[in-house]
Amino acid sequence: MSNVKTDIREIGLYINGKYVPAHDEGTFDVTNPATQEHIARVSEATEEDVDYACQAAREAFENGPWRTMSVQERTEKLRKMADIIIERKEEIARYDAMDVGKPYESTVAHEIGRAANNIRFFADFVEKQGGETYPMGEEYLNYTRYEPVGVATIITPWNVPFMLTTWKLGPCLAAGNTAVIKPAENTPLSVSLLGEIAKEAGIPDGVVNIVQGQGSTVGTAVTTHPEVDLVSFTGSTATGKKILKGGADTLKKVSFELGGKAANIIFEDADLDKAVPSSIRAAFMNSGQVCLAGSRILVQRSIFDKFLEKFKNAAMDLKVGDPQEKGTDMGPLVSKEHYNKVTSYFDIAEEEGATLICGGKRPDLPDHLANGYYLEPTLYIHDDSKSRICQEEIFGPVVTLIPFDTEEEALQIANDTDYGLNGVVWTENLQRAHRISHNVRAGTIWVNCWFVRDLRAPFGGFKKSGIGREGGEHSMEFFTEAKNICIAL
Ligand code: NAD
Repeated sequence: MSNVKTDIREIGLYINGKYVPAHDEGTFDVTNPATQEHIARVSEATEEDVDYACQAAREAFENGPWRTMSVQERTEKLRKMADIIIERKEEIARYDAMDVGKPYESTVAHEIGRAANNIRFFADFVEKQGGETYPMGEEYLNYTRYEPVGVATIITPWNVPFMLTTWKLGPCLAAGNTAVIKPAENTPLSVSLLGEIAKEAGIPDGVVNIVQGQGSTVGTAVTTHPEVDLVSFTGSTATGKKILKGGADTLKKVSFELGGKAANIIFEDADLDKAVPSSIRAAFMNSGQVCLAGSRILVQRSIFDKFLEKFKNAAMDLKVGDPQEKGTDMGPLVSKEHYNKVTSYFDIAEEEGATLICGGKRPDLPDHLANGYYLEPTLYIHDDSKSRICQEEIFGPVVTLIPFDTEEEALQIANDTDYGLNGVVWTENLQRAHRISHNVRAGTIWVNCWFVRDLRAPFGGFKKSGIGREGGEHSMEFFTEAKNICIAL
């Protein structure tokens, strides 16, 4: 039997320090994608609720103590928040396993610690932050202050709900802003806990607010609200375009982390003992529902068959199953709608003449998982990099191997996409590693590794993968206004 609890959780909106129902008492249901069990009933914010949350955040920004309290006091509260996240990590990871279908074991081991670090890192950052001084001879002195911008809305996708929210909330709060968070509608559970976590950490009421509901209604209301100054958004490129248009009238500052279709380039001198397991993670972690997924694997023709055999065997060894159980590598896809989208690419691949190597169907699973949205790790070979399976973000456990002969050809294929979030290179040739890294048009390049993150480093996308950068001073630049003060001496 599955470990999933079947009692239905009631989740309210979190506004001005309290969990409240929606004005019209409207709710929506959340199901567990591993089993299709109904697991939560969530208040669906109306426009009035969004307005109430944005006004609360404005009031807390203008008149509350958050913006003006000492950096020491503010960072103590943020560190407390990080500590509470660690204390509650099992519960948070369990929630992500329940509504995302994300394997509990790896979430509790990696993601929740990173979420706490996101908060702690930016607390440390602002404590050390200085400013510039520009003396003009003996007559004038300029100095710079970094001040909070105002009310930020934080919109996050369903694939990494809790960790990605804290990646934005950390710098937002550390800089002295207030926040209205809108989690993804199919995965609201873990993020809903941030209200009580903030309260317990002593963060004043109104500083953190959470509105739940659909992107098209609640997301639109919060990203167009006149009291919102900043939109920090992670999600699809299509939604990014809508938010940019909607925020134009009120000139909102935006930071966008959008989709990707990374090339993972394997040269003939690659160390396959490292490249294969890392490429398996890059392809199938979180069932391939990762913006940084290495979903196009470009393999030099001289080692193509060797790589294919090793990669296929490793993919077929992955354990697909109950995300709550130990040892599960891949849980289900997040929802029926998403399952239908991902599986529609099986027909597209067939029409485009791609060769199916393995997967492309549901795995055989025990009865209690019979209704879950599971797929086997799926592998195609295709040499047409213009095909839809090589161009579009499938966002599932589906990867395409593309053969190439020369370095120039690999680069041409790697850059032949609208996206530019990241790229991966496997080679033992130092010069080639640098050449490829310089010429792939993407915001992050991993050489002989994948998904290694230093929170100080810039993170974001070229082309249609984003606007702006997150990480260290890049996040702080977004969440602050630089002010110059010029004094006559
Ligand atoms: P999505 O764009 O459909 O939804 C993301 C969030 O935006 C959700 O909270 C949703 O409710 C909200 N939303 C939807 N329509 C909206 C609107 N009109 N106005 C305001 N908000 C709206 O994306 P998704 O399907 O939830 O997530 C998957 C996408 O996220 C993929 O494209 C993936 O690559 C991307 N992603 C990017 C990164 C990154 O760091 N670059 C990280 C994770 C996911």
